[in-house]
Amino acid sequence: MRGLTVVPGQPGSASLLEIPEPDPRAGGLLLRTLAIGICGTDVELASGRYGWAPPGHERLVIGHESLGEVLDAPDGSGFERGDLVVGIVRRPDPVPCHYCAAGEWDMCCNGGYTERGIKERDGYASDRFRVEPAFAIRVDEALGDLGVLIEPSSIVAKAWDHTERIGNRSRAWKPHTLLVTGAGPIGLLAALMGQQRGLEVHVFDQVVDGPKPQLVRDLGATYHAGEPSVLHDLRPDIIMECTGAPSVIADVLTRSARSGIVCLTGVSGAHTLNLDLGIVNRRVVLENDAIFGSVNANRGHYVAGAAALARAERAWISRLITRRVPLHDWRQALVRHTDDVKVVLDFANS
Ligand code: BGC
Repeated sequence: MRGLTVVPGQPGSASLLEIPEPDPRAGGLLLRTLAIGICGTDVELASGRYGWAPPGHERLVIGHESLGEVLDAPDGSGFERGDLVVGIVRRPDPVPCHYCAAGEWDMCCNGGYTERGIKERDGYASDRFRVEPAFAIRVDEALGDLGVLIEPSSIVAKAWDHTERIGNRSRAWKPHTLLVTGAGPIGLLAALMGQQRGLEVHVFDQVVDGPKPQLVRDLGATYHAGEPSVLHDLRPDIIMECTGAPSVIADVLTRSARSGIVCLTGVSGAHTLNLDLGIVNRRVVLENDAIFGSVNANRGHYVAGAAALARAERAWISRLITRRVPLHDWRQALVRHTDDVKVVLDFANS
């Protein structure tokens, strides 16, 4: 079967290769791959800036945003042939740490976790893959092929879960406004979940045209384009930072309303910036602001992410997928276009 692979750390090493059929030790469910979502992490993997191969291997099969159809399921697994399934990305560390032992592998504290398609475990971007039933999420039939959006939705559901836990440090917490920076898939899903919570939603991005402005307006939200200065004196109760861009991060650190919450979701590279940390600290302390980071997702977040997609207007979420690339054209999927929101590798028709 075909598998999309990289040599981690080696730029330009991405290659579609003939690889062995999935090892039964990878899980009892055997799936036919329908679609694999591509995100910034995959682009980083392909450019050699991130990722780890499985121990003893040179190459890593990439693909962590999956959608597959069950070909074979063990009796009593709760799955049947024909079910649509998404595989969870992270596996607990083998120790396990106290978070992993509690099923909160997204909070793993010793760094020994593994991730399908990213860290020391082959991913899902092959014609067939296997997954353990305990790490599989059934996709509602109504969602169908849009189930490929469940993994990014799980990331956003976790960011919301933790934002709300932090907000509830005060019994009187009552947020009204949300600012999302970055109108990529994570940002747009964060805006959707903000709208579903009845918040006044603002989205900031660099681009002035393409599908993003209208996607935002169709949520009933306000789109702001350009540099952070276009936000003027907007002071939101919640900020979800989804660009990972240092200049935007520097702006949001002191932009929230008093008792505000800033959730950082983007992973950035090294960058030196002239920032007065004394001023940032003074403001954050005197305003009881909370700034925190959020990565990955546990099973509950996949369920919450899928539920948010199910509640959304199908026509809107289907517009998040702006390019479907047949597997044989995989190189095109790893190149970013300015109009892209979510790019999906299509295994079903190639
Ligand atoms: C994935 C997460 C993962 C993170 C860090 C993201 O692209 O969606 O599941 O934890 O990268 O590796």
